[in-house]
Amino acid sequence: MKLSNTALLQSGYFINNEWHTTGKKFPVYNPANGETLIQVSDAGVQEAEAAVAAAEKAFVTWSVLPAKERAAILKKWFSLIVQHTDDLALLLTSEQGKPLEEAKGEVQYGASFIEWFAEEARRVYGDVIPSPMTDRRFVTIKQPVGVVSAITPWNFPIAMITRKIAPALAVGCTVVLKPAEDTPLCALALAVLAKEAGIPAGVFNVLPTMQAVEVGKVLTTHPVVQKVSFTGSTEVGRILMQQAASTVKKMSLELGGNAPAIVFEDADIEKAVKGTLASKYRNAGQTCVCANRVLVQRSIYPAFMEAYTKAVAALMVGNGVDKDVKIGPLINQDAIDKVERLMQDALNKGAEVLLGGKKAAAGELFYEPTIITKCTAEMDLSHEEIFGPVSAVYIFDTVEDAIQLANATEYGLAAYFFATDIAKIWRIAEQLQYGIIGINEGIISFAEVPFGGIKQSGFGKEGSMYGVDDYLIVKYMCIGI
Ligand code: NAP
Repeated sequence: MKLSNTALLQSGYFINNEWHTTGKKFPVYNPANGETLIQVSDAGVQEAEAAVAAAEKAFVTWSVLPAKERAAILKKWFSLIVQHTDDLALLLTSEQGKPLEEAKGEVQYGASFIEWFAEEARRVYGDVIPSPMTDRRFVTIKQPVGVVSAITPWNFPIAMITRKIAPALAVGCTVVLKPAEDTPLCALALAVLAKEAGIPAGVFNVLPTMQAVEVGKVLTTHPVVQKVSFTGSTEVGRILMQQAASTVKKMSLELGGNAPAIVFEDADIEKAVKGTLASKYRNAGQTCVCANRVLVQRSIYPAFMEAYTKAVAALMVGNGVDKDVKIGPLINQDAIDKVERLMQDALNKGAEVLLGGKKAAAGELFYEPTIITKCTAEMDLSHEEIFGPVSAVYIFDTVEDAIQLANATEYGLAAYFFATDIAKIWRIAEQLQYGIIGINEGIISFAEVPFGGIKQSGFGKEGSMYGVDDYLIVKYMCIGI
């Protein structure tokens, strides 16, 4: 890995705008070839407590800085990230595996939240509420909630961080971040640029760690932490919610998904193929909004499947730094094991392989772009996130069947459907129990729009004009006159 700016590659933990090291280290691997990229400091409970203390101290001054000044610093951070796109993308591909072009896209997408929330920072308005009393006047103001802890996953090592940190910092909160163990390098590079942009000491602290449980306990139970923002699995989200209950913290949970992509008989096949492909195979199928189930109406099934299989077969597998590669490695051995377990279960229960269906020749952690058909609700992959490049295809007959099948999950993050009848589009969009609906489109997330799930996919919104709300308290003042 050859970075133009080698200062972006850090191996310490970051508190108070200073780099520290621990005696204990852990390796960060390149999933494409198993190489150790670097050994990183393993921050523990003591470091987590120090980070919270630094964030508490910094909150005193950062929270009262005029929003315009905070915005100016965030805009500088945004510019520096964009300026270093190539290096950050290379770092991202090296530790996470996604193709370089996708990584560049994530850098831009991740940076866009910083730009957006720098702009939103100046529009955090309160209200003047008409009073029913002659002798009282009512006003609300919005204030930063306080010290925020953020815990993030490995599948978007930049964007899942900026989606939280940007609104938090914009409104005056300070943050302690625990990135995923598999991908701490992008988080540390973001810290380098945050400091360069002028974010003051203690405002943004980063703790790479192998001790997720212990550090997570501090971040979810420490009395100084007022808010926990978590992106990750529903399973871990449940644990963190329980832990945070002990001190009644404000929370945002961006959890797992089980997205259906529904192809109705009136769909434009080209759009349905393009949208399903983009949703399913981006990041080798490792996104929370990946189409986990492809539901196809019987009458359009032959035509859709012919075009879809052709498109999937054309996806090139390999190391993400190589030209034209569209499918990189999965993140680690556990991920490969999970895909193989889900595949075996589906095949045991009657599914058939149409394409792929096994590990790819490119290396230990690569899996072939795969399509399996004859899937049913009894199969484990109908209920669990596949998180790999496998399309599980189901056939349905009526609109009612499709909606029933689509909603038969504890998750409620994203759903996609492809149709052209406008009345039907409205009805179906209203009936799908999901927080995000892609209609004739597979790529749906932008800084301007609200991202977040319902049901056991969590609560809270990231991005959009709503994204600041999770980091604010509303204070009501009653003024006697
Ligand atoms: P994960 O296992 O839940 O881990 C997420 C983060 O939580 C990591 O930093 C992990 O640390 C940490 N963690 C794990 N156990 C913990 C504990 N007991 N206490 C405190 N922290 C703990 O999820 P993942 O495998 O990284 O990411 C994939 C999951 O994230 C999928 O379910 C996906 O759908 C979801 N996701 C959701 C969204 C969304 O916006 N809704 C976006 C992206 C991903 P370690 O890395 O050290 O284990």
